[in-house]
Amino acid sequence: PRLDRFKKVRDNLFNFRCPYCGDSQKFQNKARGYFYRKKDDFFYKCHNCGVGTTFSKVIQLIDSELYKEFCKEKFYGDKEEEKTLPTFTAPKFKKKDPQLESLTSINKLNGSHPARQFVESRQIPKEFYSDLYFCSKFFEWAHIGTTVPRRQEHPRLVIPFRDETGEVFAAQGRAFGNETPKYLTVKFQDKPKIFGLDRVDLSRHLYVVEGPLDSLFIDNSLAVAGADFGHLPYEKEQVTIVLDNEPRSREIIKRMEHLIENNYELVIWPDSIQQKDINDMVLSDPKCDILKIINKYKFSGLTAKLKLADWKRI
Ligand SMILES: [Zn+2]
Repeated sequence: PRLDRFKKVRDNLFNFRCPYCGDSQKFQNKARGYFYRKKDDFFYKCHNCGVGTTFSKVIQLIDSELYKEFCKEKFYGDKEEEKTLPTFTAPKFKKKDPQLESLTSINKLNGSHPARQFVESRQIPKEFYSDLYFCSKFFEWAHIGTTVPRRQEHPRLVIPFRDETGEVFAAQGRAFGNETPKYLTVKFQDKPKIFGLDRVDLSRHLYVVEGPLDSLFIDNSLAVAGADFGHLPYEKEQVTIVLDNEPRSREIIKRMEHLIENNYELVIWPDSIQQKDINDMVLSDPKCDILKIINKYKFSGLTAKLKLADWKRI
């Protein structure tokens, strides 16, 4: 009852204002405390003050009577203990996505279909085939009709952006061939173009990349289309930013300098890696452990500055 802005993020993950630090006094809607499940117990973590404790300790803090009940049940109640967890009605995440209705998901295409072959050739993990789609007329589907000559119409791979509840709010169309631009993102709602919100566990460290397909190769990661990392709604300490490996791109270097100035942790790829993005790295060496490389080459502050100066080729 006394947990402000309490909400269910997904199964086994709940978010609310931290009762220890009070979260931000200035921003009443900031909520950085989380209950998350590990094995059979719930734990607490605040991404503002860093407090990490058990579910019962939080109950003890907010309501000592409830805590006594909880302990009684936990020690004497045997299987009754789950009753002390408030019951939540799970929102219906399995609603239809009207935007995707006219498209065919990759898992429903047969092996000889060029779109399926494209996805397979990029070695995208099979578990994602059911939420990647083939769109035969992208401009028409995305309503980018009027300004584009008809002959430029072409098929694209559609990658839906879902919010925390699973609802589609944007989608990216990736060209199968050399059509430009290679990526085209359409918004159905006015929200920052962040991909992967329906899958990440916000109680854990996050990796943030540029390309949605790249993010499918890294556990607990998001992709920010348009690389607008300044508007990430997460604490800086919680994220590692992974930009493409382009030491000759002025734009990338500028972005990296900006991120370092703003105290973000980011990856500066070693010279031994030639590939431009994560997908290409996986293709060149299917056994490479991308996460291990990322964790080995992530830097911040002065070290990042020095590494960047050494890495850039312009
Ligand atoms: Zn806190």
